[in-house]
Amino acid sequence: MDNKISSVDRLVRATAEGQVMAFAVSSKNLVEKARASHNTSPVATAALGRLLSGGVMMGNMLKNDTDKITIQITGDGPLGGVLVTADTKGTVKGYVNNPNAQVLDRADGHLNVGAAIGAGTLSVMKDLGLKDAYNGHVPLYSGEIAEDLTHYFLESEQTPSSVGLGVLVNSKDGTVLRAGGFILQLLPGATDKTIDIIENNLKEFGYVTERLSENDDPSGILELLLKGLNYEITKDIPVSFYCDCDRDRVRRAIALLGDVEVASMIKENKPVELKCQFCNTAYKFSVEDLIEIRKSIENKALMK
Ligand code: ZN
Repeated sequence: MDNKISSVDRLVRATAEGQVMAFAVSSKNLVEKARASHNTSPVATAALGRLLSGGVMMGNMLKNDTDKITIQITGDGPLGGVLVTADTKGTVKGYVNNPNAQVLDRADGHLNVGAAIGAGTLSVMKDLGLKDAYNGHVPLYSGEIAEDLTHYFLESEQTPSSVGLGVLVNSKDGTVLRAGGFILQLLPGATDKTIDIIENNLKEFGYVTERLSENDDPSGILELLLKGLNYEITKDIPVSFYCDCDRDRVRRAIALLGDVEVASMIKENKPVELKCQFCNTAYKFSVEDLIEIRKSIENKALMK
């Protein structure tokens, strides 16, 4: 791995004055891993990296260890869409529909994520185990992702928030130089004074990737955003891009296609290769494997 990417990605969480919940993340390693797995174009890397960074923080907002969150953006731009799944423990995975998508840069030289995504919808699905699932959908605000999440929190969860996300891509080789983000949320009872302080801090803050430039420490982001408030760091955990796929899971997915579909795959008389959407790992199944899978479908059918 590139020696520029050496530190461990981290997520920090804090509360300030009992009125503000704050999250910040440094994520260049996990975004670089996603880029390398999916071989994404620079604008696709930025889009995926921003949503991975936001998603890993949103995963940390969930209450129970087994809860999961999926955030899906679908748009009419060349990228098609982005999907990210995160848990409470700092692992996140995701993909974009068209990893090769390209658009012209913005006039200010930044990657034009909004144009790559286009107009569409942001959906948030929370898997809260046995209790129930939560689904929220909002129209995309700008397609720039941070603004879309801010909009989502207000519209769908009635929580005034500020979200900042950034991914800096090396223009020479497309690798990830810096990535990270923050989410600030006002808790009920936040005073005007606190809101003023936060708003001023946000005005002075600038870009996430600039703030991470010195030592890649996410707590430095919170120090700037919560300046002037009493705050306490309540969590500091490593975060990573991790996919839990395995051969068995893919085998079960093939079985779910059903007898007719698997029979026609066998008839082709050649091995099939399936790739995990999330991490691009390829799984090969021989004709003999497919015959075994078909038998297992038939056995299940007999037991019914
Ligand atoms: Zn996978």
